[in-house]
Amino acid sequence: MNRVKIEKDLKKQLNVLFKSMDFVSKNFLNNEKISQKEMQIFFNIYQQLGLAWEFLGLQCGHWEGYKRTRDKKEACKICGKIKGADDFYVLLPKKGFKKLGVKANPNSKKTFENKKGAEIVNDTINFYGAVVNVGVHNSYKSSLFDQGINIAAERTVNVKEGNIECHIDKHLIHIRLCDRDRKGRGKRYGGFPWEIKRKNLKHFPVIFDFDEKYKFLGLTILK
Ligand SMILES: [Zn+2]
Repeated sequence: MNRVKIEKDLKKQLNVLFKSMDFVSKNFLNNEKISQKEMQIFFNIYQQLGLAWEFLGLQCGHWEGYKRTRDKKEACKICGKIKGADDFYVLLPKKGFKKLGVKANPNSKKTFENKKGAEIVNDTINFYGAVVNVGVHNSYKSSLFDQGINIAAERTVNVKEGNIECHIDKHLIHIRLCDRDRKGRGKRYGGFPWEIKRKNLKHFPVIFDFDEKYKFLGLTILK
């Protein structure tokens, strides 16, 4: 659907919706003759229409700009959404590429008093069974340790698929396999390949990718 068609459809739907909201408001919410119980029902209907308004507003690109409201805010000429107000929902196209949010990075040199103040985003999506979390924060003071230490600004991405977890940040890429299934969950060890005996290395189904100068290009783990 092209933009003009979307805009036309949206205007039509919003028009009908606004009429319904006005109708409920005028005839029932401001009617002193109806009972308290009935009033509650109409109040709920009005709230639900408001929710529909919010969802329709998500489709609006605010293509025709904003107009001043009586309380000196700017409202979209089409959907009536106030400029700069936060959306509670996200609307994604069912088909094709989906984009949620813009790439976030630490954006301040300041060290914040606490984690909450330093947080830019910490959001998780379950996408057809794969779970992705993105966490971005500025530097903050942590009270976890007695001394109080500064936690560096960071952007982290975590992907979970089945019992495999992949963690990516500025300094490392860490893949964790079947930790949940590990019996007894004994100690974990770590080491560079050259620190591990050849006969033990054979337990690790890992293939390194590299170029003719032995520049590391990636690795494959066989399952
Ligand atoms: Zn709008």
